[in-house]
Order: sequence, then structure tokens, then C-alpha cells
Amino acid sequence: MPDPVKRGRTTVEDVLQVGRSTVGDVLQIGRNTVEEVLHVGRSTVEEVIQVGRNTVESARQLRQGTMQAAVLHGRQDIRIEDVPVPRAAPGELIVRVGAALTCGTDLKVFRRGYHARMIVPPALFGHELAGTVVEVGEGVEGFPNGSRVVALNSAPCGKCYFCIHSQENLCDDLLFNNGAYAEFIRIPERIVAKNTLHIPDHVPLEHAALTEPLACAVHGFEDSRPYPGATVAIIGGGPLGLMILHVAALAGCEVIAIVKHDGQVEAARQLGAAHVVQTTSIRKAIRETRALTPKNRGVDIAIEAVGVPESWEEAVEMVRKGGTVNFFGGCASGTKVQLETNRLHYSEITLKATFHHTPETVRRAFGLIAAKKIRPTDYITGEAPLSRLQQVLRHMLNRGGDIKTAIIPGH
Ligand SMILES: [Zn+2]
Ligand SMILES: [Zn+2]
Repeated sequence: MPDPVKRGRTTVEDVLQVGRSTVGDVLQIGRNTVEEVLHVGRSTVEEVIQVGRNTVESARQLRQGTMQAAVLHGRQDIRIEDVPVPRAAPGELIVRVGAALTCGTDLKVFRRGYHARMIVPPALFGHELAGTVVEVGEGVEGFPNGSRVVALNSAPCGKCYFCIHSQENLCDDLLFNNGAYAEFIRIPERIVAKNTLHIPDHVPLEHAALTEPLACAVHGFEDSRPYPGATVAIIGGGPLGLMILHVAALAGCEVIAIVKHDGQVEAARQLGAAHVVQTTSIRKAIRETRALTPKNRGVDIAIEAVGVPESWEEAVEMVRKGGTVNFFGGCASGTKVQLETNRLHYSEITLKATFHHTPETVRRAFGLIAAKKIRPTDYITGEAPLSRLQQVLRHMLNRGGDIKTAIIPGH
């Protein structure tokens, strides 16, 4: 039988114990809070000093008028040169580039030495960037000096037939901006007005710079008539193929990744592919992909993210009756494909192609980064100073490089 005195004592001891623990907890919480405040205080002071230093440095450079920039002179010929710092005309911003990401398009430009629509050497190039505003043109509102921004590589006119019909990516007068591989970049008025976004404090500049390619991936995926549970085959394990597969997996699709290289297999799995088919043979890719669907009927959606005619044809062979094919990867101009008319007709195949992004998909992509649904570190696997840009691109051409490299000017 329990002794009432003992029980009383136990209760008192319990109460005391609880009281003591509570005091202890409170003390601990208090201590942690103080430490946190100190830590935040210290970081803030450090940041302010850093921002101050950058601002002073920027001001000095703006006065002196020169900066380091990568200038493309021709095929595989990039030189880091001193060029004039751009100045902001009315409506424009000058941004100190915090990070510029390498991209498949830049690689193409580097290999060929020009870009039919955008770049005639000698020219500044690079287009995936984020940075800090250092000069504000007359009339610009909402982006004071010191704002951390991601400025996209293009902006639609907002007035033409296509803009009015919500197809801004097809704008008759799409304005492009290049020159991210430099210490500073000029952001034209239209891009300031339509495609420049504030970066929240918790998002590093390097991560925000992924907005542009991710917007292309979001646009490509959403344009493929997706629905939750759809089986989606994605051909190509480059940065964009991987981003599309990631976006598709997040949207609840069952993703089959079709890749060539060993490194891409692991990346595809980590980003949410339910199945990975690794092959260099188109026949085998079609057979194995179909084998992953009930009764070999084919996938609901196939997205081609390589940009060669043979794999466009491959994508058509993979979808089920009533399925959708998206020719996402742009092929070299002048190339053609051969498709079997009977298959297209009697199987009611929908053929689509997707290009670029719209202000809306840019914002959705940015939202995925800010909400940490996409981890940019999955794609940005290397970092290098501006002076090493040429080596980095060469390395990528030889397929030995990272998925994407963050080029950090001023280092
Ligand atoms: Zn790009
Ligand atoms: Zn337009």
C-alpha cells in the first residue's frame, strides 16, 4: 500500500522538479535568445560592413569608369578585358553582378563564336545573373541603390498580337540583354519594368540567378498538358532536362528520365525520377521506356530536351495513343524530322514545341526558388572567378564539367 506521506513528498518533489526544469528551460531559452540576438547582430554588422565596402568599391569603379568583362571575339576565344562601366539612362538600372551562371546557350555561342539572333562578336555575353543595384536611372521606382535583384535576359513588348494573347514568349519584339559575365551590367528599361524581381534576404544571389533557366523549364512543363499522376518521359540529362524532370516530379508526375552519361543517372534519381533509362541507342530508349508503362502502351507525355532531330522522332515513338509530345530542345537551323503520318493521325498524337519563358512563368520559377522547393545547389555544382570563364566553358564542351558553374566577377 502506498504511504500517504511518501506520496505527498513525491508530489512535492515532482512539483519542485517541474518547477526547477521550467526555470532551467527558461534560463536556457533566455541564453539561446541572447546568443541568437548576438549572432544576428554580429552577422548584420558584418553584412553592413560588406555592403558598405562593396558600395564604396562600386562608387570608385563607377567614377573611374572601367570594369572587367568577358568579351567574346570568336570561336572559343574569350578575353577578359577592361571595358567602360555602363551608365544608367532614364528607366535603366546598373547592377553589380553577384553571380552569373553558365548555360547551354552560352556554350553553343562559345563553340560557334556567334548567336544568330543575339550576339555578333566582339560582344559581351552571359545572361543568367543576379546582383545588387548600384545606379538607378531617372524615373525608376522600387529599386533603390543596394536592392538585391534578379534581372531576366529578356522582356516582351506588351503591345503586339502575341503579347496581347498571353504568348509573350513569342513577342514580335522580344528584347534580349546579354553581358552577365562582367562586374556590372546595364538592365534596359523594359526589363526593369517587366522582368526584374527583388530577392528575399534568405536567398543567395547565386541561387536567384537560376530563375531564367528554371522559368524555361516551368514553361516547357506547363505547356505539355501535364496532370498529376501522368507518366512523363524526359529525353536528355542536361541542366534543362534535369530541371524539367524536377518540376514534373514536384507536380506529382511519374517521371522516366532518359539519359546518356553516368553522372546524369544519379542526378536524375536525386531530383525525383521514378525510373532512369541510360542508353545511347534510340531504339533501346523507346523499347525500355515503353516497357515501363502498362502493356507497353507508351507514356502520357514525352518531352525532348536534347535538341537533335533524331531524338525529336524518338519522342514521338514513346507516347501512348492520345499522348502529347513537346519538342523542347531547339535543333540547329535548317534541320528536318521525319514522322509517320499514320501514327500521328490514328493515335491522335499532339505535337507541341515550347520556347523561352513569359513574365508569369518567370515569377512561378522564382517562387519555387524562394520557397526552397527547388534547391539551386543541385544544379550549380561549381564556382569560378571571371578570369577562368574560358577554361570553364572549354571543360564543359569536353563534357567533363559541372552541371552549371557560378561565375563570380570581382574575384
Ligand atoms: Zn540560359
Ligand atoms: Zn510583344
